[in-house]
Amino acid sequence: MKEIAIIGTGYVGLVSGAGLAEFGNKVTCIDIDVNKINKLNSGEIPIYEPNLKSLINKNCNDGRLFFSSEIEKEIKNSKIIFIAVGTPTGSNGKADLSAVEKVATSIAQNLNEYKIICTKSTVPVGTGEYIKKIIKSKNSNIEFDYVSNPEFLREGVAVNDFLFPDRIVLGSSSSKAFKEMREVYRPLYLNETPIVETGVETAEMIKYASNSFLALKISYINEIANLCEAVGADIHQVAKGMGKDGRISSKFLHPGPGFGGSCFPKDLQALYNLSKDNKVELNTVKATIKTNVNQKSLAVKKILKLAENDIKGSKIAILGLSFKPNTDDIRESPSLFVVSELTKLGASVNAYDPAAAENFKILFPNVDYFSSWRECVAGAEICAVMTEWNEFRGIDLKELKSLLKNPRIFDPKNIYSIEKLKSLQFKYENIGRNI
Ligand code: NAD
Repeated sequence: MKEIAIIGTGYVGLVSGAGLAEFGNKVTCIDIDVNKINKLNSGEIPIYEPNLKSLINKNCNDGRLFFSSEIEKEIKNSKIIFIAVGTPTGSNGKADLSAVEKVATSIAQNLNEYKIICTKSTVPVGTGEYIKKIIKSKNSNIEFDYVSNPEFLREGVAVNDFLFPDRIVLGSSSSKAFKEMREVYRPLYLNETPIVETGVETAEMIKYASNSFLALKISYINEIANLCEAVGADIHQVAKGMGKDGRISSKFLHPGPGFGGSCFPKDLQALYNLSKDNKVELNTVKATIKTNVNQKSLAVKKILKLAENDIKGSKIAILGLSFKPNTDDIRESPSLFVVSELTKLGASVNAYDPAAAENFKILFPNVDYFSSWRECVAGAEICAVMTEWNEFRGIDLKELKSLLKNPRIFDPKNIYSIEKLKSLQFKYENIGRNI
């Protein structure tokens, strides 16, 4: 049983903590947000993530998972320390590493014996060296090993992704650290989950290259969808036909109103800035960023088109505020941009989301929030289904029509049958299906 401290108990730290405890380790999740730790200690889960509560409860009851805000004490008591704090985009477009620096300093000041320091946060190539330098400069006597262990979980299916990953990436220059880390992930190691062992810089790059590639795939299919619309092809069928090719795969070939989330937008920016610093062209990444900005604007244009360019004073119902289904995370959600633009244009916005409304309210207190989709759409002129929650997939379109003031729908995730919309005489807009 390894004694592990995870510093940063957010979407990644909390799921990783619960998952590593499930693998048989003794884990303490730490955060500077005392309120969050108090909630966790009283059995409350601060984020919406399917299956997380039961995993946490099980491991707390089994005496393997703990929560604490005493950073210094927990650093001293653990053998392996994971850094899982946020690395948002800074004002210069690069990753803001201030939280990572702060944690590295705390680790240095409390390093009382040999430990493994392992970064799970997504950090630009070279950060591992920087963290080592910080720790060495403040504590030259005690030995430590450094590991880069980027995380690939997806919000909404994070528990499953953590417990059953496609691969584990470990970057280090220490064979002792590799051996210890294989023990940390012992059940996966025994199951023959691929473990990619590499140098620190390579591990750091694998994470950015993976996220950028997935984002590129989305931007690509979004542009193809827009062309499909112009030429009368059906993106649904095109993506299906493409995805059957094993070299392409059907994943991340779903068009929509642009990607959001806490990772893709910021990681693309960070990678692009890294390329600029190193005077290496990354034209595909640059284009992916631009395409995504265009796609978010296109969503607003489509709603305007439904309103016949007369949106001032109209009531628009937004179903779905999170950046994807099954999460309460709204970071960079396309709904943020759409709601902001519609409000600027003088529309009034009704909103409903099964999990993310409380987070959205903080940024948009003037939107009218409802506790069901039915209340949200009642009397609205247009309904925009921004996030493909299952609850929205199951909406009876006949009932939707009866509740709306006008039967107009924007379906950017293409979740409704065009035949059905046509038969009910909806005026509709989607992405890539002008059929
Ligand atoms: P988050 O904002 O949800 O959580 C970060 C946590 O760190 C917060 O609870 C915050 O209070 C805490 N924190 C900040 N400074 C601290 C400090 N000095 N000491 C202790 N705690 C501190 O962020 P997240 O979504 O969990 O992302 C964390 C990292 O993982 C990022 O680098 C992100 O890019 C990466 N990542 C995220 C995902 C994802 O889906 N969210 C997936 C893979 C990788």
